[in-house]
Amino acid sequence: MSDLLLTNVRPDAKAAGDILIENGRIAAIGPALRARAGTKVIDGGNAIAIAPFVEPHVHLDKILWGLPWHSINVPASLRAMIDNEVNIRKELPWSVAERAGNLMRQCVSMGSTHIRSHVDISTHYKLDNLHGVLEAWEKTKHAVDLELVAFPQTGMMIDPGTAELMEAALDEGASIIGGLDPANIDGDPKGHLDTIFDIASRKGAKIDIHLHEFGELGLFELGLIVDRAKALGMQNRVIVSHAFCLGDGPRERVRRMTDLMAEAGIGIISAVPGEIPFPPMFELAARGVRCAIASDSLRDTWNPHGNGDMLDRCWLLAYRTNCRTDEELIAALDMGTRRGAELLDLNDLGLRPGGEGSLVLIEGENLPQIVVDRPRRALVIKRGRVVARDGRWVDGDA
Ligand SMILES: [Zn+2]
Repeated sequence: MSDLLLTNVRPDAKAAGDILIENGRIAAIGPALRARAGTKVIDGGNAIAIAPFVEPHVHLDKILWGLPWHSINVPASLRAMIDNEVNIRKELPWSVAERAGNLMRQCVSMGSTHIRSHVDISTHYKLDNLHGVLEAWEKTKHAVDLELVAFPQTGMMIDPGTAELMEAALDEGASIIGGLDPANIDGDPKGHLDTIFDIASRKGAKIDIHLHEFGELGLFELGLIVDRAKALGMQNRVIVSHAFCLGDGPRERVRRMTDLMAEAGIGIISAVPGEIPFPPMFELAARGVRCAIASDSLRDTWNPHGNGDMLDRCWLLAYRTNCRTDEELIAALDMGTRRGAELLDLNDLGLRPGGEGSLVLIEGENLPQIVVDRPRRALVIKRGRVVARDGRWVDGDA
């Protein structure tokens, strides 16, 4: 918790003024603010100040960043990529903690100060990945908040004992139960969903399901998810990541499912994938579905792309959805900031008195322009403390 007076900045690209942070919270925003004696003062140089980016879906335990280039040469089938990853991770020279710490520092340097990460849980890994990520977080806690999903990457019903380990993960630092393609991986949509909803409702955990299944199959499973969320009173506690079926399913069915998801409080996260159809994010938001974008898998055995920069991801969404007007470009930025915070119930984030004293400074002209140009992050501040400067992680108190 730190005090900081940030002078000469433009909150949300509006009129220039100061932002005063006291005890880690925003105390005031306005012109010519005065701080109590001893408060650190930084001249913001007329940069734009925005609320931090939110990274709502990444895989900290999978990252290979910093290791020699990893060439991907397996077929793009889910099962082949799952098996390939397990084999490669047996031989890595760096621990989960070393690799996860690298990615956390990168995300912070790009302006994300809250991360939701999945961690692989299986009878092979047991809870090792969870423990490794938590070990890394010990050194980055001042800069980034972290919430973890117990994720059955290699299957749950087909790997007996995994569900019990996922439940155990909730007692050791995870707060969310994951799921994965209930039909195509586990071959048992009802059994898979009943199991994870049962664990979540008994343990008071949230749910975050990877659903890659397309078309009618995916929509059928979304229906099962809606039914369970409503029956168990888990409105606004269930997120479906990817939901490609909302991008390629019959339009009328997608529209009806959108309304059901809005009513049941099911959130949607998309990584804005390459050629794969992805959900119509702005349409979902307009119809009342909570949604946001994320990095997902990056620089690992699955995906050679990605840099942990949510501003890049906002641009990618804007590009793929043909955002052209200022209003549309700002809506794309919202998907990586405000909407991400709402989706994860981070009610403290936002540039307003009383809010968490966290923000990102970006040198730019206005909000639409920074989405298009994606300038370097001049400063990243977490609860009044500078944690990154000029796109680089800051060690110690700077
Ligand atoms: Zn993922």
